[in-house]
Amino acid sequence: QLELDPVKVNLREMVEEVVGLIAFNAQAKGLEMVCRYAPGAPDLVVCDPNRLRQVLTNLLNNAYKFTRTGHIYLNVEPVGQKDGQLNMCFQVTDTGIGIPAPQLEKIFDKFTQADTSTTRRFGGTGLGLSISRQLVHLMGGILQVESLDGEGSTFAFTIPMEEVPGTLQAPAPVDEADTAILVISNHELGCEVLAEQVRHLGYSCSTALGYQQGLKKLDELAMGSGQKLSYILVDQDVLPEDTPLLMDFLDRLPPESRPRSILLTSLSSMAREKDIVQSGFTSTLTKPVRPQNLAQVLAGEKLFEIPTPSLPSEAVEVELPIPKSEGPSPVILLAEDNPFNQKVATGMLRILGCEVDVANNGIEALDLVRQKDYAVVFMDCQMPEMDGYEATERIRQLEGPRQATTIIAMTANALSGDRQACFDVGMDDFLSKPITKAMLSDMLAKWEVLGQPVG
Ligand code: ADP
Repeated sequence: QLELDPVKVNLREMVEEVVGLIAFNAQAKGLEMVCRYAPGAPDLVVCDPNRLRQVLTNLLNNAYKFTRTGHIYLNVEPVGQKDGQLNMCFQVTDTGIGIPAPQLEKIFDKFTQADTSTTRRFGGTGLGLSISRQLVHLMGGILQVESLDGEGSTFAFTIPMEEVPGTLQAPAPVDEADTAILVISNHELGCEVLAEQVRHLGYSCSTALGYQQGLKKLDELAMGSGQKLSYILVDQDVLPEDTPLLMDFLDRLPPESRPRSILLTSLSSMAREKDIVQSGFTSTLTKPVRPQNLAQVLAGEKLFEIPTPSLPSEAVEVELPIPKSEGPSPVILLAEDNPFNQKVATGMLRILGCEVDVANNGIEALDLVRQKDYAVVFMDCQMPEMDGYEATERIRQLEGPRQATTIIAMTANALSGDRQACFDVGMDDFLSKPITKAMLSDMLAKWEVLGQPVG
């Protein structure tokens, strides 16, 4: 009794949304998540977004489940027209365990799994692909698979959809036609997909694989007599320890040929924001990079693109941190005026093994800090009576040069200015709302209040 409900949708946004949900978990697992929505493909189409989302989620979830290292790649691209409709091809590729040839057609059968031992390891019902194949059929396509045992799989289907006329996104005009951009990453596919997006915006773009090649290209481009190198986009993966080195290198260039640098971060690593600012990057972009955000950052319209963390889906087991020592629980102060948020955050902190005191505003927070030593203060920035900024300043005055209390800002305004304002008044770190248990536990581990999560 499956029926379609076609409506006008922004397909690009829908695809980005679905990918965003998987990306958080995939990146946390160390996988590269690459998404290509073919530049020039229309954004607005008529299709059944719910059915399509269901299929894509199933395919991406499987890719995530069955891939230990490497990447997951979603490619969406028009492959011609038929009867006035656009044929849109969706392809999910992974570098996972693959499917042995004899199983290939069977995996679409109900309750069939290629390898029953994977069920034990990854869970699942064996229903997803059979439903997906039916849904794709309903939408006018065929869900197909290609796979090499041990090397990965590609699931693909092409469905016709009506293009909503006049919605083709024209690339933003680039003022400086002579502007060059360099992308430095360890991941070839990710690098190429990003470079293609950059070129579509009208810039010329070079790529470099890895840090050493990056420095070499950087030198050539910055010192060469060709186009002005205006930006370098640097994947955080190339420089865990080398960041200062890169910045030294940039500092040594004459100011007129020094490019601005943008760090490509993953959704799961936002706690490093402070380090990013200190390392001299002008902006960050979250991977997989959305063309819209890329355009805005390159045009200088937006300084920081701040990731909104999605809640990890059920597929990921939440790792619980262990208290650092056998001793008493760490005592945390939560300064937060919203009763609902108080309840949620207190609950999460208690599950993590902390004792929690609550202050309803800055004045109460200040009072409590006078009376007690807290392992950490989570400080909401916007509060009535006295806001988090002022409360922090006063706490710092109270402490004098000792500056003993770790204060972590919590704010819904994830703009770079707000972050800087937090650091300026003496806060130590920053969390953007909505706050999750994983974010709290990571933060407490980072500041050594709790031990590292045990996996
Ligand atoms: P479930 O994942 O719930 O078991 P599915 O119908 O989605 O059910 O998948 C059926 C089986 O196909 C899986 O159990 C797995 O053996 C195989 N499979 C699906 N996707 C992949 C993939 N990307 N890589 C390797 N095997 C896969």
